[in-house]
Amino acid sequence: MTKEKGKQKAKTGSITGPFLTMALMPLILLSLVIGVASSYLVRMAVEKQVKTKLKNMALAVETTLDTYYPGDYEMVSTDNGLLFCKGEQILSGHYELLDAYREKTEIDITLFYQDARVLTTVHNKEHERVEGTGVHTVIRETVLGEKEEVFYSGVAIGDMQFFAYYRPLYNANGELFGMIGVATPTATVRGAVSSVIWPISLLCAIGAVVAAIVSFLYSQSVLNALKKMEQFLFQVSRGRLTATLDPSVSKRNDEIGKMGTSAVEMEKSLRDLIEKDALTGLYNRRYGNTRLADTWKRCARTGQQFAIAIGDIDYFKKVNDTYGHEYGDLVLKSVADVFRKNMGGKGVPVRWGGEEFLFIFEDMGKSGGAEVLQDMLEQICEMNIPTETGEIIKVTMTFGIVEGDTTRTIDEVVSRADTRLYEGKNGGRNRIIED
Ligand code: GH3
Ligand code: MG
Ligand code: MG
Repeated sequence: MTKEKGKQKAKTGSITGPFLTMALMPLILLSLVIGVASSYLVRMAVEKQVKTKLKNMALAVETTLDTYYPGDYEMVSTDNGLLFCKGEQILSGHYELLDAYREKTEIDITLFYQDARVLTTVHNKEHERVEGTGVHTVIRETVLGEKEEVFYSGVAIGDMQFFAYYRPLYNANGELFGMIGVATPTATVRGAVSSVIWPISLLCAIGAVVAAIVSFLYSQSVLNALKKMEQFLFQVSRGRLTATLDPSVSKRNDEIGKMGTSAVEMEKSLRDLIEKDALTGLYNRRYGNTRLADTWKRCARTGQQFAIAIGDIDYFKKVNDTYGHEYGDLVLKSVADVFRKNMGGKGVPVRWGGEEFLFIFEDMGKSGGAEVLQDMLEQICEMNIPTETGEIIKVTMTFGIVEGDTTRTIDEVVSRADTRLYEGKNGGRNRIIED
């Protein structure tokens, strides 16, 4: 029992969740990928730009020093300690040139003797130049050991993080003196990256949100249409053939719309199969009984008048016997056409059985109904239905009509109409007998 219940539960799912996931997931993933990829590319591009700028700066400082102070770099021992010199020029304590560069470019410059800072524009929190400090092992080993330039992001100098470039500093004889390092605060680089990434991310986010809203609204409209369709088909499957499908579904100009139209047509076909007679296309007795009951109830409630008539083709057995059953069928279809054409908007003709027809005149009394019957009888008499041999035979009918009377049962009313019909038959046929 529990297993059965479990099985039933598993069967009744909803496509809403998977459908929305399918519609929104790729969008979210795509915007994430675009966001991450563009952030990475922008960072790479900005870093590359910064690297070029730093390298050019280092070369420019080196060239300027060589131009203004020709000669070798050296550390000269004096009574006051070691002095940093280049050619004839004492550089220790002479910050003018480097500070001027720093001021114009906001890039810090440091000259190293081996791996020790001997002249720098970098200050610590206490506003002291960070001279005498060393560098990270990797920088020292790469620049002084392997004699290669190195870029380093996240170098801590003093109290700040820098994005730095170091290259070896040689004297004219090729002797390695130390290094030149140029650095820009990491925050500045990050600021440059952010200033590009933010608008891109914002655009990505706006695009993703707009796309998600459009996708969500479309998904909702599809899901709503499917839901309405499912409810409609459920009603039809329960035999409620008067169920209506929301017109918004069949109006859709897509596969769901076509499915909706087909579902409505299927309902109509089912209704026709159940309610209509296959030969004449008129309503059958089953539907006739329902319509009689409905009419009776409505008129009992509203006081509206109605009339009931029964008609029967005269000597029809003879028609069949003489000209064949198929010809008989043709006659039945022809009289049905006359009924359909004349009864429109006045009520319904029903194939009551064999060559017998019931007429429900709605919002019309016996005399109005009799007039319609008279018109139809004349048209039937004038019909020319040639037989196989080209013979024209004439068809007549007899009708009995009674006033709709809600003080009697519907069976009594129909039975009275039947009695009038047989009076007509006995009275010579081809006539209308009113109650
Ligand atoms: P009356 O004037 O007294 O009504 O005589 P009738 O011959 O019309 O009446 P009867 O009841 O004797 O015969 C009715 C015939 O209608 C018998 C039956 O074979 C024929 N009939 C009933 N249904 C069909 C049908 O669907 N097709 C054809 N071709 N004949 C049918
Ligand atoms: Mg008959
Ligand atoms: Mg009959």
